[in-house]
Parts: sequence; structure tokens; C-alpha cells
Amino acid sequence: MLISEIASILQATFLAQSEDLAINTIVYDSRKATGSANELFIALPGSNHDGHEYISALIQRGCKNFLVAKKIQHSSSDINILQVKDVMASFQLLAQTHRSKFQIPVVGITGSNGKTIVKEWLSTLLSHQFEVAKSPKSFNSQLGVPLSLWPLNESHEIGVFEAGVSKKGEMQRLANMIQPSIGIFTNIGEAHSEGFESLEEKLEEKALLFDNCQQVICRYGHSIIRSYLVKHSPKLITWGIDEPKAHINFHKTDIHHYHTKVNNVPHNFHIPWSNDLDLENLFHVISAALLLGEKEEYIQKGIDELKPVPMRLELKRGQNNCYILDDTYNNDLLGLQVALDYLKQQPHKSKTTVILSDILQSGKTAQELYQAVNLLMKNHGVSQLVGIGQEISNHQNQFDLPFQGFNSVNDFLKAAPLFADETILVKGARKYGLEKIVGYLEEKSHGTVMEVNFEAITYNLNLYRSKLNPSTKLMVMVKAFAYGVGVEEIAHLLQYHQVDYLGVAYLDEAINLRRKGIDVPIMIMNVNPDSLGILEPFNLEPEIYSIGMLNKLLEETDTPPPIHLKIESGMNRLGFTDDQLEELIGILKQNTQVRVAGIFTHFSSADSSSEDEYTDQQAKAFNQAYDLLSEALGYQPIKHAVNSAGIVRKPEYQFDMVRLGIGLYGFDSSNELPGLKTISTLKTKISQIKRVKAGESIGYSRKGKPTTDSEIATIAIGYADGYTRLFGNGKAYVLVNGQQAPTIGNICMDMTMIDVTGVMAKEGDEVIIFGEKPNITELAHWSGTIPYEILTNVSQRVKRVFVSE
Ligand SMILES: *Cc1c(COP(=O)(O)O)cnc(C)c1O
Repeated sequence: MLISEIASILQATFLAQSEDLAINTIVYDSRKATGSANELFIALPGSNHDGHEYISALIQRGCKNFLVAKKIQHSSSDINILQVKDVMASFQLLAQTHRSKFQIPVVGITGSNGKTIVKEWLSTLLSHQFEVAKSPKSFNSQLGVPLSLWPLNESHEIGVFEAGVSKKGEMQRLANMIQPSIGIFTNIGEAHSEGFESLEEKLEEKALLFDNCQQVICRYGHSIIRSYLVKHSPKLITWGIDEPKAHINFHKTDIHHYHTKVNNVPHNFHIPWSNDLDLENLFHVISAALLLGEKEEYIQKGIDELKPVPMRLELKRGQNNCYILDDTYNNDLLGLQVALDYLKQQPHKSKTTVILSDILQSGKTAQELYQAVNLLMKNHGVSQLVGIGQEISNHQNQFDLPFQGFNSVNDFLKAAPLFADETILVKGARKYGLEKIVGYLEEKSHGTVMEVNFEAITYNLNLYRSKLNPSTKLMVMVKAFAYGVGVEEIAHLLQYHQVDYLGVAYLDEAINLRRKGIDVPIMIMNVNPDSLGILEPFNLEPEIYSIGMLNKLLEETDTPPPIHLKIESGMNRLGFTDDQLEELIGILKQNTQVRVAGIFTHFSSADSSSEDEYTDQQAKAFNQAYDLLSEALGYQPIKHAVNSAGIVRKPEYQFDMVRLGIGLYGFDSSNELPGLKTISTLKTKISQIKRVKAGESIGYSRKGKPTTDSEIATIAIGYADGYTRLFGNGKAYVLVNGQQAPTIGNICMDMTMIDVTGVMAKEGDEVIIFGEKPNITELAHWSGTIPYEILTNVSQRVKRVFVSE
């Protein structure tokens, strides 16, 4: 669309006008702008930052087109600035107008759970017969939906888009944009209920998506949805499994076969899964594909390609100091762009490689397609491209970056190319089997992994941020490998989200972060005084807690780094006591080369209401010390005191900065902040299963003695992984196939035995050690400790995988 066309649709005013450029990409996050002349930056107001603040920097970077709501000062002559009243509403109107140009069937999906998976699966199924446009990832919000609609073009035959709402009043806008002809209502649950008064209100809001649909699909068994839709929707189509009253009844003919009839045409499907949730999602998808007239053989082909796994991006550590960004679920142009944007947030190596399969259903000629890919690579600064597939290899003359082509994954593996010190995006459609390439590149593990969810961490970060005054700075504690979670990846995420400071315990932790490209200010709490001389070149700020330490700093260096003075106010750990302040001031006054960046204290009991009085006393002592020091210094260093619990319980002590720790990692030590998300799941696998007779014994010292004949599974985790011996002999349970299995016998160094009698477990099955359930708080309770210790005890030999939904 030309910029002039956009202006007329939006009835916008040109604050600056130059060449009438064609817009092909919309950018809403300044960090994701590539500087191409065909990008339009939309300046959205955010909770922390306003897009308008970045415009002058973007102009410098070569960006040409802007949609704004405020007046913008600039001195360039070759840019376009469109002014409207409300940027978001205008962008939505643009998407809506664009969508209206296409008279194709569009599936709109909503519900409390499963939207994304249903959308992904449906588009995979349909793609065997049709050109499909779809939303990438879980782009289902007020912003995600218009971004998803924007790439629609003449070649598309069907659209599949998801819509998500969190409060009343949001769905109408999404419905206006998506304009679905077929609806899928996946389910309704208590999840995400916060924004609604009642279940009815939520139901009513979500169902607004379907007002103009010709057909709406829901599961017969979801009677609340069904009875609502019967009354309100033009044409309800229900499906069920052996549910004769459903419009589409999938009759189970044997364990993996289903038979149904639609408009008197019989269909048979082979579905090799049994989990009810996976089946529910799949039958929504099959029903929609049948209604859209897809042929049975294509549907079956699609089913064979699906896997009941969540499709998501995973960041893994690779061999030879590489990072692997694993996005091997699908491959279309928009998805590629999203993955490349995401690559920017990752720990950055100097080199980035993209391994890419042929691209499906782009609606462009192969030549246009690979030219577009080339442009994306260039704009994202990719250093080399590896193509997997005949088509991409045949078009290598379209690429002007280093290119290596392989006809298949096997050819790639046979050639065994070497990668070192780079970030590698592996992106391809499921049918190319690129997961084999990921397996070849990644660090090997022994089956136990800790999965860490980036979105959950970001969610928790924003939840705490919402508790801060706008001017309060945020330090995040990443000591002890970021509470055992994985420090490089967390630090990069935090740097991306622009936290003000990071806090670590020891010098080597800080130097490691600097080496890995973290340039956020870092405070170190416990530097060995002998090392104080080497901080300055790394730009690291020590906590100084004694006169001796300050003197040592002055001895070791002529140009000392900025310091943080720790005040002892009642914790009785580290810090200057009252009677040392005078001497401290004397030294500081004589050594004005020392800049005090911060003055801080730590509350011993910020999490405990019974000790509020003590906390207040500590605050009072700290205030006095701060006033004395800052007056003597003649400036106001950053004043900081509260930890995670304090942010929630003692907002009056936020001062200039807070120090967030455990809360980021999902634990509310204050017990007053509901809604934090679980960020990590520790998983392992069953190595072997044994049938054991009553009276036989299990493990070391014969401690496990089942009283009945039992099935005992050995799992690949032991106390050397952090699964303490205190969990032995039934003190803890793990989850196998969603069912509880208690430990039996003593925990070994690398293995544990669990009782899986009646659980239908098999060798190789996944075992959840902790996550949503059992959660770390339970584990802490079973072993008489606190969540902090469970989390930090997970051994470094356990592989970490970072996922984004
Ligand atoms: C670890 C630490 C924090 C963070 O505490 P949480 O309870 O994890 O929020 C804050 N300040 C200091 C000095 C710490 O050592």
C-alpha cells in the first residue's frame, strides 16, 4: 500500500511529506526496525515507553515512514510523517480496510485455551490443498491481529486467525478486523478470568467474534458454550466423539481410527494419539477442514505431519559455544520475519547464521519469494544462509550473502558442516525434519532438562514494574546463575527489556556477563578486596561494606569505579554501622575521585508482616544514614533498599531503585501478589521399568519395600542434579503422564526410583520433577527449606532450554 493511500484511508495529516513510498512492513517496536524505506513505524504509547520517543533515533537509522499522534520535531526533508488521533485505532482501521479487499473464507478462532495450536494445526492441514494466510505465533491481541492481517494478498485462498481478549470491550474491534466467515470456539475455562465479572460476561464477549459468521464450530460436550451459541449464532456446528447428537460425530472404530459423515459423505481418519486435550484440538481442526471442503486424503496427510507438541521457539545452547534458536515448526515469510526479530533479543555472537528450509505457500513466485528472503536476511544483518531443500538451493543466485545449499537434511548431516561462536536460527516447516539438524548442533544432555519460559519471566518482570513509581529504577538480581535458572540468557532478556542495573554476588559472575555482551551497569555485592583493582576496566560497581574495604579500593586503584555503600540497619550481615559513618565521611571527603553511585541497605524481614515494626526501624536508621552521607557528599546517590517482597509489601520504601530477585523467577515471598507465572519446569525421562514383587527391596540399603506387587521406574535424576536425598522414600512425588508417582527407596547420585503402579508409564516417558505441579513451593516444604534453595540447587549439568510460545 502506498503511503498516500494510507493517508487517505486514515484521513491523516502529513506533518512531513516526501516520496510516495510503498509500505510492506509495519514496525511497532523501535528495536525491530531495520531502516528499510518500505517500513512504516507506528508510534504506540506503551506502559513503560512511548513510541514517539524513538522517532528521532529511527530517522537517524534511515527509517522513512511514521504514523504518529503527537507533533514531532525533526529537520529531515526525505521522510513521511502521518498524524492521526489514535495510532492503534488507525492501524486497526488500516488492517480492517485491507482485510475487506479479500473475498475468501476466513476462520476466526477464540476460546480460553488452545487457540494457537488449533490455528497452527488447521493451517498445516489446509496447506495441503490451499494457500493459507495465518497469524504467526500467538499474535491474537489488539496489536497482534492487525499485524497478522497486514500480509494478506491476492494469492491467499483461506485465512486462519486467532483472537484473544482479556477484558470486556476488546472483541468487537478484533471481529471488525478479522471478519471471519467460519468460527471456532475452542473452550472456555476459568483461565484469564481476571478481566471479567463472570463466566457469562466472558462467554458473551468472546462470542462477539462470531456475530457475522456463516458457521460456528464447538464441541458438543462444552454445554455452556453450546447453549449460548444455539441462541446467538447463525449456524452452530457441533462435533463430538461417539456423540450421536453432534452434527459431526467422530465414531471411534478402534483405538486409533475414527469414522464420520458430513453431508452424507463418509470419512475415515487414522489418529495415532490418545490424550484428550490433543484430540479435542485436533477434532476442532478436522471439523473446520471438512466444512471448508478439504479432501479427506489431504486432511489425513496433514494429520500425519502434526505432532502433539506445542509449537514454540526454543533457545538452546549449542556445541562450540553456539546458541541455537530452534523454530522448526513451520515456515512462511511472516513467521521467518518474527523469528529474525526474535533473534535480535538473544545472546549475541558476532556471527549469525540462518538454516532455512524451502518456504511454503507464500503466494509469490519462487524468484520474488527468495528475493524477499534475501532482503530480510540483509535487513537483519544475517552473516550466512544455509538452505535445506531443492527450491531454495536452486535459487541461490537470489542471495547476496554467503550461501550454502543442501538438497535435504540428510545431505546436510553427511557434510557435517562446522559452526562455532555463532547464533544459529534453524527455521523450517515440520515436513523437512529440521529437528535432526538441531539435534546435531545442540549440546548433548542426559535427558534431564530445565525448561525456562521467557514469556513468563517477561510477564513477571512487567507485573513488578507495574508496582513501581514511574521514576523508580529497577535492579534485577542475577546472582548464583540467575537463581540457578541460567544467567546469560536471563541477563540478555533483561538487557533487552532495559532494566537499569543487574546485581551479582561475585566478581567472576560479573566478568562473565561482560564477556557475554551485557553492558547494563552491574553491582557486585561481595568482591574479594584483593580484586578491587580490576573492576574499573570492566565498568563494574562494587558494594563497599567496611572502612578496610574502602581503604583497599583506594590503595588498589587511582581511578576507582563507582561504588555502592552498604548500610547496616539491622540484618547484621554486611555494612557500615552508625558509629563508622563519621570515619567513612572523612575518607570520602578526602578522596573525591570516588563517586558514590548508590547507598543501600537490606531488610531482614520485608516478607513478614509480624516484623513490620522492625522493618520500619531499619528504614528509619537507613534514612538517617543516607541523609548524613548525601549531605556530606553534596550529591544524591541512588538510594535502594527493598527486595521482591519489599516491592509489594513496603512500596513506601521504593526510594530511587528496587532490587528484584525471587519474584522474577515466579515466587511471591510476600504472599500478597497473586498471578506470578511459573517460569521453570524440571523434566527428566524414565530409563527403565521393573515389575517388583511384594517384599522385594529397591535401591541402596534396601530402603524401598513395596507391600504389594509394583511397577517401579528408574528416572534419570539424582542428588548430584540437585534432587536432594530428603526427597527419598516417598517424601516427594513426580508427575508421569499427568499422574502422581511417589519416590521409593533412597535417592541415588544420578538416579531415582519411583512407584508407577497403575500409571500406565512406559520407558522413555517424560517425568515432571517440578513445574506447575508439583511446584517448587511444595518441594521446599517436603525438604524443610525455601523455594530459593530448590531453584538454586538444580545442578549446572542439567541442560537449560529457553522457550517462547
Ligand atoms: C538477593 C538479594 C536481593 C533480592 O532478594 P529477593 O528476596 O530474591 O527478592 C535483594 N538485595 C540483596 C542485597 C540481595 O542479596
